[in-house]
Amino acid sequence: MAECDSDRSSRKRERSPEAAAASNKRRRATSSDERLFNHSNSRYLYSITFKIGPQAVPFVVHAGVLFKQCPALAEAWLGAAVVNDMQTLEERERELPDEDARIFWVFMVWLYTNNLVVPSKDLGAGIDGVKERDSAAIALRLHQEPGKEILPGTLQWSDDDLVELYIFCRRHHVDALGNLALSTLSVQNVQFGRTCSTTAVEAAVSAGHNAELLFKYMIDEANWRSGDTPVGDDTWNNFDQHYTRLTKAALENDKLTYASFRERPCRYHIHHGEDEQRLCTSLWMHKTSLSEGHPAIYEHLRETGTVFVGAKRLRLVLHKGLLLANANFFQGAFSGHFAESRSNVVELVEEDPAIFLLFVHWLYTGRVDIFSL
Ligand SMILES: [Zn+2]
Repeated sequence: MAECDSDRSSRKRERSPEAAAASNKRRRATSSDERLFNHSNSRYLYSITFKIGPQAVPFVVHAGVLFKQCPALAEAWLGAAVVNDMQTLEERERELPDEDARIFWVFMVWLYTNNLVVPSKDLGAGIDGVKERDSAAIALRLHQEPGKEILPGTLQWSDDDLVELYIFCRRHHVDALGNLALSTLSVQNVQFGRTCSTTAVEAAVSAGHNAELLFKYMIDEANWRSGDTPVGDDTWNNFDQHYTRLTKAALENDKLTYASFRERPCRYHIHHGEDEQRLCTSLWMHKTSLSEGHPAIYEHLRETGTVFVGAKRLRLVLHKGLLLANANFFQGAFSGHFAESRSNVVELVEEDPAIFLLFVHWLYTGRVDIFSL
């Protein structure tokens, strides 16, 4: 921060009490500035563009947010610099051609919100080059309780997205999100009185050991569902052969009741330690519906703009949709009234970067935490 000191010493010497107070204020601002850059929680300072899938669909993620939620994965994708010197990551691009853009989008929304937010439409429809789900195939299930059909317009997850998300999480050891995906599948199926779709079961079967616990859940679910209403052989024939064989075996050997299935959702989770298990169990025990977050978050986290803050022009790459939805000022700045709108850049030279970062944190989390001051 030698640069800051030379800035100060080059100013004219002023002696009035007001000037001294102003000077102290400036000094405090500079010192909070230093903490801002040195603090490990400088979450939004460095952004990475991930190019996902064969179509290289771009998603911008802040390295500090990725690191906070999944440090091991951040290091695997971005190298040791994410732990030691995040500054060297700025403007990096990372290609992940084997990942699915639809699943990465869900993962990214979870990174920022800590929630699995139900999308309002097929996520494939929102990304160029990514196919939509075959809704007829997804609708095919072992069992659908009469009278619990989903009303048109009701938001729900595609089972297939949740299963693919689960497998993504197992591959990358993001166990908290994997548990959430599995529980979401379970709660949603209970809510709508049904088993998993056949295509979701097939995906779980072909994922092998990565989906062992998920598959156990599917078998148990089919087991107690068919206890409610016995299923005929015709229904069984629609299923993947492997699933059918195992499910039939489970039916014969180990009758589960509805109550035991519901009371122990954590039996299918991966926990790290007893405390985590206790907390998780109490969370899922009473959960009967999922309605956290607004689906607009998916669009809000797509495009980005650049904001320069403070006299030293701290450069922040931020998700434009969030700025536009939450702050009137940016609606003008990004959508036509200013020259900046053409270049996707907003200059905020008058603002204090430390305070602006508090605003950014509120923007992404809805919270005001004094983490960077
Ligand atoms: Zn659990």
